[in-house]
Amino acid sequence: MTETGRPMFPHLKHCVRCCMPETQEGVDFDDMGICRSCRSTEIKMHIDWAARERALARIMEQAKAEAGDGYDCIIPISGGKDSMFQMHVLTQVYGMKPLAVTHSHNWYSETGWYNLQLCLEAFGVDHIMFTPARKLVNRLARKSLVKIGDTCWHCHAGVGSFPLHIATKFRIPLLIWGESLAESSGRATYDDGPQAFDRETFTRISAKSRVPEMVGDGITMKDLVLYEPPSAEECEAAGIKGIYLGDYMFWDDERQTEFLRDEYGWRETTMEGTYKCYKSAECVMPGMHDFTCYLKRGYGRGTFHATMDVRNGLLTREEGFELARQTDSERPAIMDYYCEITGYTEAEVLDIMKGHRLAQLKDVEVPVRQKNRPHEEPLRPYMQRLLERYRDGKE
Ligand SMILES: [Zn+2]
Repeated sequence: MTETGRPMFPHLKHCVRCCMPETQEGVDFDDMGICRSCRSTEIKMHIDWAARERALARIMEQAKAEAGDGYDCIIPISGGKDSMFQMHVLTQVYGMKPLAVTHSHNWYSETGWYNLQLCLEAFGVDHIMFTPARKLVNRLARKSLVKIGDTCWHCHAGVGSFPLHIATKFRIPLLIWGESLAESSGRATYDDGPQAFDRETFTRISAKSRVPEMVGDGITMKDLVLYEPPSAEECEAAGIKGIYLGDYMFWDDERQTEFLRDEYGWRETTMEGTYKCYKSAECVMPGMHDFTCYLKRGYGRGTFHATMDVRNGLLTREEGFELARQTDSERPAIMDYYCEITGYTEAEVLDIMKGHRLAQLKDVEVPVRQKNRPHEEPLRPYMQRLLERYRDGKE
C-alpha cells in the first residue's frame, strides 16, 4: 500500500480540513474535528475588511496627532516579508513616520541582511538595532534546547522585549506588528476581533521561559537585561498599545511576497525543512528550530506551511501531507553550525529532544532523513562570514 498523501504519524488525530496534528501547541478541534485556524480562515472571508481598514485609519490619525514632533509609531522589523510589508503600508498608504526597531538574533542570512538594508533604504526610515553578543547567543542557544526544547529562546524573547524597551524609553506608545494571531498561530480566530499586543501577551505567548530561568551556565541577569521586558508600570506609564496589521487588512502571504519582490526587489531564498522560500528567510537557524518541533511534536515547518496552503485552497489535503512528508523529517544542514556554537554533539541534541517528545509519540519511531536538496547560500551567519573572509582570509 502506498503511503503517498497520508500523514507521517497516522495514529495522531489530524484536523479534517488541513494537515495539523493534535500535537500542535494550543490546538483546538471543534465537534466536527476542524482546527481553530481552519475555522478562523472561514471567518476571515466574511469580515467587513473595509470597515476594519477605516478603523485602522482612525488609529493612525490619532497616533499622528498625539505624536506631535515625535515618531508616530514603532515598527519592529526583521527584514522579513511581513516587516517589509508593514513598512510599505504604514509609510506609503498611511504616511506614518515610524521608528524601525530590530532585535537581531545575530543569525542573519546574507539574503536576510540584504532584505533588511533594502527595507531601511526603500522607505527611508530611522532604525535602532540590538545585537546580543555572539558569546551570549551561543550560550543561550545551548540552554534553550534544554529549557524549551527549541534552539531560539533569545529570539522568542528579544523580538518582543526589545521593542517594548524602546517604546517605553522613547515614549513611542504605538507598536505595529504584522500577521494576525488569528492567521495561523492557532491562538485566536478572526471572530475574536483585533487583538492587542501588550506586556502580558508577550510574557504569555512569545517568551516561553521567563528570563530568570535562563540564568546559569555562564549567563547572568546582567547579560539578559534587555530580555527582561519593562515592568507593567513602565508600560502603563508610557501608554503602550500594540496592534497587528493583519487584524485590520486582509492578509495574503503569497500575494504580499510577489508584490514586495516585484515592487521593491525583496528576495526569497531556499529554506530548510519546507518548500516555501519566504518565511523566516532572514535567519539561518529556522531549519534547526523547526526540526526540533518535528522531534518533539511530530510535525515541522513543511506541515505548518502545507496547512496554510490547504486552508487557502492552493493544495489538497493529500498534497499537503505529501509535501510535509518530504520536508519535515529532513536533517537540517544548520545542525553542524548549531553543534559548533553550543558544543553539543548531534547525538546529544537528539537525546535532549527525546526528553521533550510528547507522550503521543513516545512509543513510535520518529525517522530522520538525510537532506538531498541543495541550499542557495552558505548556512552560516552573514556577519560571521564577513569576519572570517576579511579577518581570517577564509571562504
Ligand atoms: Zn485545520
